[in-house]
Amino acid sequence: MGEDYKIQCLVPDLPSPQDMLPFLEEMHSARWYSNFGPLCKRFESEIEKFVPVMGNGPRNTVVSFTSATTALEAALSVLGLRPGARVLVPTLTFPATATAVLNAGFIPVLCDVDAEQWDLSAELAREALKQTPFDAVMPVAVYGKPIDVLAWDDFAAETGLPVVVDAAAALGQQKAGSHIHLAFSLHATKPFSVGEGGLLVTPDANLAERARSWSNFGFAGPGGVISQVGTNAKMGEFYAATGLAQLARWNDVQSRRAKVMEMYREALAPLSNAIQMQAADGEFIPATFVLNTNGRAQAVAKQLAQDGIHTRFWYLPPLYEHPALVSLADGLDHSVCFPVTEQLKTSLIGLPFHAFLTQEDVQLVCSSLSAVL
Ligand SMILES: *Cc1c(COP(=O)(O)O)cnc(C)c1O
Repeated sequence: MGEDYKIQCLVPDLPSPQDMLPFLEEMHSARWYSNFGPLCKRFESEIEKFVPVMGNGPRNTVVSFTSATTALEAALSVLGLRPGARVLVPTLTFPATATAVLNAGFIPVLCDVDAEQWDLSAELAREALKQTPFDAVMPVAVYGKPIDVLAWDDFAAETGLPVVVDAAAALGQQKAGSHIHLAFSLHATKPFSVGEGGLLVTPDANLAERARSWSNFGFAGPGGVISQVGTNAKMGEFYAATGLAQLARWNDVQSRRAKVMEMYREALAPLSNAIQMQAADGEFIPATFVLNTNGRAQAVAKQLAQDGIHTRFWYLPPLYEHPALVSLADGLDHSVCFPVTEQLKTSLIGLPFHAFLTQEDVQLVCSSLSAVL
């Protein structure tokens, strides 16, 4: 993917074999490789401390999975939603947000996103609720921007609707709450990367237990019988070992990413009339650095490619343009129902953003950008 470019869009930042060795030695001595082994348990309890709970919220429980996608599917599957339940999802997201809903047996209901923060906000969900009924909501931490925990906690408390957050790219930045369930990804392309893996963080300990059982075929308690129809979505000990090694170096990873972000902020300042960065309520370091080029995404991609710089159209096309998902917007006029997404789809472009970029790289990206804008 993009090997021919001088400047790569994304370079995974994982622990070295040396970093992993102590954990692998432990695994080898214990001869325990999956099924909620000691490393997996330790990783979950370290993550519990790592993901702070907003305000005076309750203790959250952590369950590990093979991916964020299976963590989302687990949460949706064990919520107790009625058959055929409708789940509100944003139009601008990675397809797994919608496929998790479909695979759990429910119906995704599409909602346009906020023009500045590019996400499905609690405010937009309240508006949507006036237009159409739904049974649950899946806000997304778009490009790693944390969702507003207090706003969503209020939404869940007031409406009684479950809120399952696709926070796949936001581990290390997204806080937990009192009513919302969070799913994180540990995929190689995420800032906190382990290779593959996912986490569910929830204030509901019973839901956590059902989700764990779901990840292990549906087994619950002794006796070797299943009490629900689950699947196999357990995190193995190799991944937990890598996760523990990654936790130990996270502050270093994040401070290098923060420095690159700072370089971009400075270098992009002269272009602030032509482009917009993703707005947010507080400071955050994006997982993927996406700019709004006001309809010029294709032109920017072409210019940067000519200069040896790899870009990506992250989260595009919108959900309703994926061949497998077009039926979700059957009969809907996109420009009427999803005006913001229709504008963003020709405007958003993902620039190179990873911890290995140098000052010269960032300068090169920005001068290539100014040549076209
Ligand atoms: C990466 C990503 C996913 C998928 O995560 P996996 O762990 O690879 O399943 C889902 N949703 C969003 C928003 C993502 O960025």
